[in-house]
Amino acid sequence: LDIKKVDFVSLSKETSKLMKNAYGQHISVHTLYDRVIANADKQKMKQLLFILLDNALKYSMSPIELYVGYEKDHVFFTVKDHGIGIPKEDIAHIFDRFYRVDKARNRETGGIGLGLSIAKQIVDSHGGNINVVSKEGEGTSFTVTLPNN
Ligand code: ATP
Repeated sequence: LDIKKVDFVSLSKETSKLMKNAYGQHISVHTLYDRVIANADKQKMKQLLFILLDNALKYSMSPIELYVGYEKDHVFFTVKDHGIGIPKEDIAHIFDRFYRVDKARNRETGGIGLGLSIAKQIVDSHGGNINVVSKEGEGTSFTVTLPNN
């Protein structure tokens, strides 16, 4: 890992712009801060954000929201969509390699079920956490927290 200070506000804005240019879908970035700093590998953080935003775009329609900020001694960011959601019984497995929810597989979204396992591995390697809250038919939000020391 190449650990340096990373500003998650500019990273979020850059990545959102990139996704907007590539997919034409808008992602709104919400934050109370000018900068949100944590020590991290910037390349890996880009990849992590890309995986979560790419999923949000694949499994929902706009709008997609990205929240960035501080909570206690952690930096967090949340990717929230209003899409198909994840069935309760599948939530425990989505971070497994090659796991795909049936419904998602039947839709022609593509993908091989590796994105979230890579996301989890990146978060683990930074000593952070990744959590998901999801409801079928309502939407999904993934929150990543990272130590900010
Ligand atoms: P890829 O390897 O291209 O990322 P994938 O999207 O199928 O393929 P994961 O990113 O690991 O793989 O996601 C695993 C499964 O979790 C998906 O197949 C999908 O069913 C479900 N999932 C992930 N993100 C969302 C989301 N935002 N909304 C609904 N379902 C999701």
